[in-house]
Amino acid sequence: MRTDIQTMDLRSDTVTRPNLSMRQAMASAKVGDDVYGDDPGAIELQKIAAEVSGKDAALFVSSGTQSNLIALLCHCQRGEEYIVGQDAHTYKYEAGGAAVLGSIQPQPIEFEADGSLALKKISKVIKPDDSHFAISRLLCLENTQAGKVLPQSYILQAAKLCKEKGLKFHLDGARICNAALASNATVKQLVEPFDSVSICLSKGLGAPIGSVLCGDVEFIHKAKRWRKMLGGGMRQVGIIAAAGIIALTENLNDLSKDHKRSKWLASELEKISSVEVLSTATNMIFVKFKQEDSNKLVKNFTESNILVSMENDGASRLVMHRDIDDEMIARFINLVKKA
Ligand SMILES: *Cc1c(COP(=O)(O)O)cnc(C)c1O
Repeated sequence: MRTDIQTMDLRSDTVTRPNLSMRQAMASAKVGDDVYGDDPGAIELQKIAAEVSGKDAALFVSSGTQSNLIALLCHCQRGEEYIVGQDAHTYKYEAGGAAVLGSIQPQPIEFEADGSLALKKISKVIKPDDSHFAISRLLCLENTQAGKVLPQSYILQAAKLCKEKGLKFHLDGARICNAALASNATVKQLVEPFDSVSICLSKGLGAPIGSVLCGDVEFIHKAKRWRKMLGGGMRQVGIIAAAGIIALTENLNDLSKDHKRSKWLASELEKISSVEVLSTATNMIFVKFKQEDSNKLVKNFTESNILVSMENDGASRLVMHRDIDDEMIARFINLVKKA
C-alpha cells in the first residue's frame, strides 16, 4: 500500500468511516444503560428512526443481520416459513440464522430482473393448511435489491396479496434511504405498506455500527426480548447511537452525491470498449471487465490503493459512498483506460 494517495474502496458502502461530526458527537454523547432503557442517545435515535420510517416505534440493534433475524423471529414461530428471494441478504448472506436459531423454514424464490418477487410465484408457494406443510407466515422483500429500487406499485400489490393470504410483510430496507432518494419519495412513503422494516445506519449513511428495526409498539416490545436473547442488549450504547443520529439527520442528505457519482462513473466506463456496464442504479454499478484483463487490473488497482472485488470472470460490483470523491473516480477511470 502506498501512503501518498488515499485508498479508494469500491467494495461496499459498509467501508465508510465515521466522519468528524460523528466522532465529536460520540465523544460528547450522554449515556445511560440501554438495557434499563435509560440511555438518552438510544432513546433519541429510536425516536428519529420511528419518525423517518413512519412506524410507531424503533429499536437500535447491532447489525442489519441481527435486525432481520429479530424481525423474522418476531413474525414467525417454529415450524413456520417465510418467503424470500433466492439471493436475498436474509436468506443467502445471514448464515442461515432464521433456520438455525428460529427453526423458521425459508421458502426462497428467484428474484425478477427488477429485484421484485413475482406475485404469481409467491402465490404458488403459499402453502394451504395441510399437515404436510410448514405454515406460510411472512413475505420478505429487499429495497434496494442489488441497487435497484422496487416499483412502489408492485409493493402495494404485494401488500394486498399478503393481506389476502394472512401473511406478515417485512422489508429488508438496508438501503431504503437510497431507494427513497432515487424515487423522489420519503422513506415513510416507501415503507408504509410493511409491518416492519430494517434500515442500516452503517452503509451509505456512514455510521460505524448499527441498524434500526421499526414497527408497531407490540412488535418492538417483542423485538426487544429477542435482541436481549441474541446478546444484542448493549449498555452505554449512546456512544454509537450518537453516530446513528448523525447518519439519519445530516448524512442522509449526502446520499445524492453518491448517486451522481455512480451515474458519472458508469457513463465514463461505458466509453471504454473493454468494459461492459451491465447495470447501474442508486449507488451501485455492475460491470464486467474482460476476463483476460482481470488479473492485471486487480494488480494495477492494488498498486494504486484501489480496492475492488472482482470475480474470476471479470464481473465486479462498484459501490459509491461518502468516502469516495471526484478525484478518486478520475484516478480510477484513468487506470481502467490505461489497462
Ligand atoms: C448489508 C445488508 C444487510 C445487513 O448487513 P450487516 O452487515 O449485518 O449490517 C442486510 N440486507 C442487505 C440487503 C444488506 O445489503
